[in-house]
Amino acid sequence: MVWESSSKRKESWDALIQRADRLAEKYDSVKELLLFYAKLLCAQKEIYERLRSRKGWLPSGLLEEDLTVVRVMMPELLRSIEKSGTASLVEEAKLLLQASDDEIDRMLLEQWRAPSDASFFAKAFLQPYARWLAESGARPIDRDLGEGENHCPFCGGPPQLSFLLNKEATAESGNRDLLCSTCLTSWPFRRVVCANCGEERPSKLGYFQSPEYEHVRVEACDTCRHYIKGIDLTRLGLAVPLVDEVAAAPLDLWAQEHGYTKIELNLVGL
Ligand SMILES: [Zn+2]
Ligand SMILES: [Zn+2]
Repeated sequence: MVWESSSKRKESWDALIQRADRLAEKYDSVKELLLFYAKLLCAQKEIYERLRSRKGWLPSGLLEEDLTVVRVMMPELLRSIEKSGTASLVEEAKLLLQASDDEIDRMLLEQWRAPSDASFFAKAFLQPYARWLAESGARPIDRDLGEGENHCPFCGGPPQLSFLLNKEATAESGNRDLLCSTCLTSWPFRRVVCANCGEERPSKLGYFQSPEYEHVRVEACDTCRHYIKGIDLTRLGLAVPLVDEVAAAPLDLWAQEHGYTKIELNLVGL
């Protein structure tokens, strides 16, 4: 079966990298974060392109089987982070560069089967693989994750962010979609509902913004005390959700200070 909705609103890696560079110039307070994220995106693009251009090979949807092809690209990601990461990531990269194939495989399979936003290297590494899976139509078959409308219908991953977008010229307020933290595809989601616990009562759902980021809001739930950030493309059409979400890091600090837990930390750990 071909996965049709995977082509919906997905920026090229170059568009993501350019947006990160542009926002690094715009927001001084998060410049370092964004420059780091831009380098990470370059490394992810490299992995994606090598997978995609590999002759006579398509991913099977079974990571265990694909590992022989996929894992050889890990050292490149590690060396890139060794040059640009924070002290703790640099240290972890050095350790992983000495790890055996078995250890790398175990780390990747564990993340694939039970994803954790704390597992930086595995999450960052698997995004380009999973994106290519979604685009080539090989549905993951060894990933038995939570079902339900708040999980990606393609790969089962949890949402990284939400975004509002006018899908029809006549729509006034915009549709809401969630973007998958694993394969980066998106799917439609109801507008006024918590993306973590499904709370629907408006009195339990809060939206918070700061003047610096007019197109980004914290969507918080007082029932489960979780939040996700929403990017409003009806306000700023040239925003790139994955990158603008990272750029609005001060909103994460605000939400966390107010006792909310993020549904899924992004790749800069916020
Ligand atoms: Zn997914
Ligand atoms: Zn909730």
